[in-house]
Amino acid sequence: MVPTSRVRVLTDGPVRPGGEYVLYWMTAARRVRFNFAVDRALELGRAHGRPLLVLEALRVGYRWASDRLHAFVLDGMSDNRDSLAAAGVAYLPYVEPTPGAGAGLLEALAARAVAVVTDDFPCFFLPRMLEAAAARLDDAGVCLEAVDSNGLYPMYATDRVFSRAADFRRHLHRELLPHLRQAPTATPLERYDLGRATVPADVASRWPAAEPAMLARAPEALARLPIDHAVPAVPERGGARAGEARLARFLDERLARYGEGRNHPDDDAASGLSPYLHFGHVSIHDVFSRLVAREGWTEAKVQPAHRGKREGFWGASAAFESFVDEAVTWRELGYNLCSHRDDYDRYDSLPAWAKETLAEHARDPRPRRYGLRELEAAETYDEIWNAAQRELVATGRMHNYLRMLWGKKILEWSESPEVALEVMITLNDKYALDGRNPNSYSGICWVLGRYDRAWGPERPIYGKVRYMTSESTRRKLRMTRYLARWSRATLPLPLEGG
Ligand SMILES: Cc1cc2nc3c(=O)[nH]c(=O)nc-3n(C[C@H](O)[C@H](O)[C@H](O)COP(=O)(O)OP(=O)(O)OC[C@H]3O[C@@H](n4cnc5c(N)ncnc54)[C@H](O)[C@@H]3O)c2cc1C
Repeated sequence: MVPTSRVRVLTDGPVRPGGEYVLYWMTAARRVRFNFAVDRALELGRAHGRPLLVLEALRVGYRWASDRLHAFVLDGMSDNRDSLAAAGVAYLPYVEPTPGAGAGLLEALAARAVAVVTDDFPCFFLPRMLEAAAARLDDAGVCLEAVDSNGLYPMYATDRVFSRAADFRRHLHRELLPHLRQAPTATPLERYDLGRATVPADVASRWPAAEPAMLARAPEALARLPIDHAVPAVPERGGARAGEARLARFLDERLARYGEGRNHPDDDAASGLSPYLHFGHVSIHDVFSRLVAREGWTEAKVQPAHRGKREGFWGASAAFESFVDEAVTWRELGYNLCSHRDDYDRYDSLPAWAKETLAEHARDPRPRRYGLRELEAAETYDEIWNAAQRELVATGRMHNYLRMLWGKKILEWSESPEVALEVMITLNDKYALDGRNPNSYSGICWVLGRYDRAWGPERPIYGKVRYMTSESTRRKLRMTRYLARWSRATLPLPLEGG
């Protein structure tokens, strides 16, 4: 049974046993494994003896739609097409050719459905899209359920909004274990036997399935779409298959040196999983179950005396403890905020002490000032900053430690902290594969004091907000090769889209 804490029923409409299929409208957990929404759709399908139909749609009319983001999502759709075909489940992969062309598709499919199950995701345009869909399906008398597969801890298991990682960690150490026993099914479609639904002919002709060239992210197919072609696709593949391969490589080759190694650009030991987690190509439950299997961890190893501590609670290796602290405590802290407040990306949502100190220093002279265009083009005096920005523009990724420095320098070089926030969001959401995620806004707002405390001594511009310098970064980190690669890289800088 999918836990009730994972399911929000968004309409008053009843489940309709006479419907032709159970519709899973896949919007955020773009995978077929370890997915509570698949489990829930199968529960309904079994209860009513109806097959599953999966609709995975890709819109063009959202801010930042680009070749880069489309290609990554299309890789996932191509993997889903293969997996669902192998399982005998009907799948409609729909790619909008023009903004708004997909309007009506969900209702048309929902009209023949027992019920509609979809993903719950707490930020970017998805909550608004879900709310609008719920209003329309409610009018049509169709049952819509939003299912949360985002984290190990269900977003709505608490009403509390945590303003410090330490408080959230303590809460998780007290509350998380029962939720770990309620994981989604690893391979829910392995013994699928509910039959094959048919996409109604009128739907298939008005909203045809994406052609193979589109699912293969062929450049000529992407070129036809009204999206930002100036942010090019990257060679790195998206999708469940590539995500699983990344996870395996991380566990085999990097995990053992994760704690310290993840800080050094020259021998980066980080997982690189964030884009796959963001698009739902990989599930955090999958990641956790593999870690547990590798470590031979069981609940009996938990050390209650270490509740609330960054290390020791799990009774596991230092690498396990440190990775889980990032991938669960820090990652899910962002989901906690976004699921409970809709001002998560606004300046006003920063802690009072941070706004106060930044306001006191608002008039401090800025010895160097750079606007969005110079920053986007990596045209600052700072070699490390330029290298990090070039990596972001070229690959859709930025090294974890440098991401913090990157943000701090934008604060220092912008005319105001409010402008710095806008610039960080623009550059991160536009170029980063993992952008537009709760952790985009927690990372960016961390630069301005969220989840942090006041630091001394007070500094110009930063006030009491934590300060970082490129000089100390250069001293602390191994980054010779990184700089050789990125500080002189020339980029086909896509500036016109911003
Ligand atoms: C200015 C700034 C912007 C950021 N923007 C994003 C963003 O757009 N998307 C995003 O997912 N993360 C963002 N982060 C957080 C963090 O930098 C990335 O999650 C991490 O670098 C991703 O690399 P990885 O998958 O190799 O991480 P790993 O170190 O392998 O960690 C595993 C997973 O844990 C989570 N995680 C790790 N570090 C953090 C953290 N500090 N906060 C929250 N979750 C974390 C991520 O989901 C990550 O994939 C940002 C941080 C800063 C300072």
